[in-house]
Amino acid sequence: MFATLSDRLADTFKNLRGKGRLSEADIDATAREIRIALLEADVALPVVREFVAAIKERARGEEVSGALNPAQQVIKIVNEELVAILGGETRRLRYAKTGPTVIMLAGLQGAGKTTLAAKLALWLKEQGKTPMLVACDLQRPNAVNQLQVNGERVGVPVFAPEPGNGVGDPVSVARASVEEAKRKLHDVVIVDTAGRLGVDAELMQQAADIRDAIAPDEVLFVVDAMIGQDAVTTAQAFLDGVGFDGVVLTKLDGDARGGAALSIASVTGRPVMFASNGEKMTDFDLFHPDRMASRILD
Ligand code: GDP
Repeated sequence: MFATLSDRLADTFKNLRGKGRLSEADIDATAREIRIALLEADVALPVVREFVAAIKERARGEEVSGALNPAQQVIKIVNEELVAILGGETRRLRYAKTGPTVIMLAGLQGAGKTTLAAKLALWLKEQGKTPMLVACDLQRPNAVNQLQVNGERVGVPVFAPEPGNGVGDPVSVARASVEEAKRKLHDVVIVDTAGRLGVDAELMQQAADIRDAIAPDEVLFVVDAMIGQDAVTTAQAFLDGVGFDGVVLTKLDGDARGGAALSIASVTGRPVMFASNGEKMTDFDLFHPDRMASRILD
């Protein structure tokens, strides 16, 4: 991810090398190139505008520092702004003070929620937690089964409605799962919810009802990094319809241009918390905005 953006920015900064001091024209030219680089990476236009304006303002106002040449100064500013957009400090999970920590996943169908649920469960297990997975995606016929298969792969129990036994009410399943977790002393509950191909009112209502029923400690919006220009609309719809505390980016191993990550974090003001980067259950980790920014500017 971010390969093109990274190359483009490297070219931009090359042009600044050897300059003694940045002129107004240098700053304008650099800002223009950063703008093009971001647009080509599918960053949403309002986000690009804001980003470039911030860079320009800071580049003009920056004291000439003895330690850094102009190119390095611009890189430093871009780096800091990238980190800020992506959420600043690495945002860690907030655990409940008493009782099980409830994590609810929301997102479009195909975003990678079900896979992610199991990856997150494994990650938590490796940190000594005793998670339980909950199948509340009762829309997609195979989703419950897929979660069960994934749960088995990572050795984490799955709470699911009995086949033929009142299937169809994800809110009751979610509520019952938290009780079950308390009984069986699971300290984290991960609730997989239904996703549709597009944003729709019924899906949002169902997710909002589940949220109201179980009062999650964290709602995570799971989004495919390849989503491109649709990212902002989709993220905004989930923010308005369900609300979320953090973003999980999936399929970072693909050739996504990366703009979705920047746009979503900027427009929603929610940090990217986790990254999923492959089909293996271990292809998953905390997202570190500073490391990602350094990679982009490498
Ligand atoms: P859901 O509909 O949101 O539950 O999505 P799934 O978990 O079923 O994932 C949809 C497809 O994306 C599946 O084929 C997954 O194997 C694949 N997938 C999920 N996460 C990743 C990832 O990080 N990288 C890659 N390459 N594929 C992924």
